[in-house]
Amino acid sequence: MSTFENKVGLVTGAGSGIGRAMAIALAKAGARVVVCDVNAESAERTATGLGDAAVGVAADISDESSVSALVETAISTYGRIDVLCNNAGIMDTMALPADVTPELWERVLRVNLTGTFLVTHAVLPHMLRQGGGVIVNTASEAGIRGGAAGVAYTASKHGVVGLTKSVAWAYAKDGIRCNAILPGPTMTNIATNASFDPTGAARLGPVLSLGERIAQPEQMADAALFLASDAASFINGAIVPVDGGWSAA
Ligand code: NAD
Repeated sequence: MSTFENKVGLVTGAGSGIGRAMAIALAKAGARVVVCDVNAESAERTATGLGDAAVGVAADISDESSVSALVETAISTYGRIDVLCNNAGIMDTMALPADVTPELWERVLRVNLTGTFLVTHAVLPHMLRQGGGVIVNTASEAGIRGGAAGVAYTASKHGVVGLTKSVAWAYAKDGIRCNAILPGPTMTNIATNASFDPTGAARLGPVLSLGERIAQPEQMADAALFLASDAASFINGAIVPVDGGWSAA
């Protein structure tokens, strides 16, 4: 795998789980990393673990002014952003379409889809100015199937898939690539304190049980790093399941 020497990465949701593993992997591969999380303490913890190679930034991707400040800090600290890992996201309650509350719908769409858009929108002008860059979005298996999560999460991740393809097509000639990974079940903190709607959980159970093998966050980071690397220089707009075969079932 090629090196990320002299490259700068920005990873959202990097205080925990998959994003933390992405930040560590990028730093190990030689990049300097902007470690973003809405949880200031966990962002700082990940960044401190990476020593001089990283800066921790508390930012909420669902808030436009917070995102502006995040990208300004990245640029004022390192001068450029070569790799953007749009990874931060939240679960829903597995609620089915008739049962989801408008509040839950708004919140999940706001973070998972609009938040991913806001960071992309703020970073793209810098990538265009630099003459290139790579974006890796963390979607989900729920971005390509209807029975892997509740309606809000499913719609948000299908949206991330559409955003990925739109960015990939729009800026291919500008040296910007944009791909998405679709994690299957992965050992992280995303379901900590989650409460599930019993009707939805019962309806989704059979599909969820097909994804019986649980991944480690590092396996997601490996796939993201490949897509961000020059080894994937002609892969653009790809929607890549990283699920041990679940999507093939
Ligand atoms: P996680 O909860 O361990 O980590 C997510 C991090 O994102 C947390 O540190 C959280 O504080 C941060 N975050 C949440 N909202 C934020 C916001 N508004 N702004 C900035 N940071 C925010 O979960 P994870 O499993 O590592 O999730 C990472 C991504 O992977 C998410 O997009 C999730 O939807 C996706 N995903 C996870 C799984 C899985 O099984 N774990 C499966 C498919 C997709």
